[in-house]
Amino acid sequence: MRGEIIAIGDEITSGRILDTNSQWLSVRLEDLGIRVLFHTVVGDELQAMVAVFRQAIDRSDVVITTGGLGPTADDLTREALANATGRQLVEFPEALEHIRQFFQARQRPMPERNRVQAAFPAGSDMIHNPRGTAPGIFLAVPRDGRSPCYFFCLPGVPSEMREMWPQVEERLRRLGAGREYILHRDIKCFGAGESQVEAMLPDLIRRGRDPLVGINASQNTIILRISTRGANREECEAKVEPVVRTIYSILGDLIFGENETELQDVVIAQLRAQHLSLALLETTTAGLVSEWLSGAEKTQHQTYRGALIVEDLSRAEKLLAGVSNRPQPAESGEPDSALGVSPASLAHRVAQLFGTEIGVVAGPLRFLNEDGTLAEFSLAVCQGQRVLEKTIRFNSHPDFRQITVARHILNTLRLWLRNGT
Ligand code: ATP
Ligand code: MG
Repeated sequence: MRGEIIAIGDEITSGRILDTNSQWLSVRLEDLGIRVLFHTVVGDELQAMVAVFRQAIDRSDVVITTGGLGPTADDLTREALANATGRQLVEFPEALEHIRQFFQARQRPMPERNRVQAAFPAGSDMIHNPRGTAPGIFLAVPRDGRSPCYFFCLPGVPSEMREMWPQVEERLRRLGAGREYILHRDIKCFGAGESQVEAMLPDLIRRGRDPLVGINASQNTIILRISTRGANREECEAKVEPVVRTIYSILGDLIFGENETELQDVVIAQLRAQHLSLALLETTTAGLVSEWLSGAEKTQHQTYRGALIVEDLSRAEKLLAGVSNRPQPAESGEPDSALGVSPASLAHRVAQLFGTEIGVVAGPLRFLNEDGTLAEFSLAVCQGQRVLEKTIRFNSHPDFRQITVARHILNTLRLWLRNGT
């Protein structure tokens, strides 16, 4: 079955709000094995809506609309569906009763305007709305020589729409959806560009392959999505497993995790497993690494203990003046040429200050071209006598610079904790 989602409302077409409903609905439809081929957005205008509905009925087997079911003059979904399918609008007594009760429960009189919400295209079924006045609509629209188009209308208010979804899902299952199991597995990489990763896996990323391997980049993270369908979970996993193994063997350390896992989750898990704790000195990321690590920690701060967030290393040097930098490792202690401050010695002092095994110092940042898209920063990691000092060069749009630097810091920590390099 092919699916289409239609989001309705001037609020969306004018850019005032973002259409998050379509995103949510797409995930649900894909889970049921319905391939979503179109997202359509249309403003509150009857003729435009009718045209879009007709087109969707013709090209898609399942259509879900969201929005335009309210009681006001610009809520035109009911009328547009009646129009597009050549039907009359009829008042449904049970819908009217639902709306009456909704107001009664709130001890308010029912405004006459709300009566329109009880009008449905002839032949449709009502989808109960436990949270609002607007019931949803289900209509099987006959098509010449083909199976009907299953048309569902849901409200625009996200919480109402979501609460009504199970009724839609149940109906879709009865109509034959969801018999196939769909499995997606996301493998996440950091440290190489999208085309570089693609070139490393030449034969895997090919259209029409099963399992399908897709590649996507989002703010320095490369995501390989492996997808397949089958009769059940076991069958899908058996198909996906060899592909996953191949990807791991080729990409190795570039891979940091799967699905929802972020770099900070990996670092926290590694620290926990090795019974280590960490403190930071952040100069170029304004506390972003700290925020991510705290978020990943979830419970009390035991592995990640805190950060000193300052604008540069000389400020940090002043703040840490009274803190001993013992043990001073033999191989560190090179002063930063521009500042006369050694990042490694600061890393030791940060660890001392917070009472942690590991201290990390990031900064300073140096721009290497005019527009600031090419830059580098110094990073020092200390754990007792073990010291890592390196300069990381990166390309990034200035808007994403902090995120890029933060990811590089976490990725370096991940590799250090894993391989000791
Ligand atoms: P109501 O009965 O509340 O009028 P409705 O079905 O007419 O419901 P809309 O008036 O289109 O829905 O939207 C109500 C609110 O829901 C909007 O103000 C907006 O905040 C939110 N909303 C609508 N459509 C979307 C969408 N596609 N994505 C996210 N939020 C949405
Ligand atoms: Mg409305």
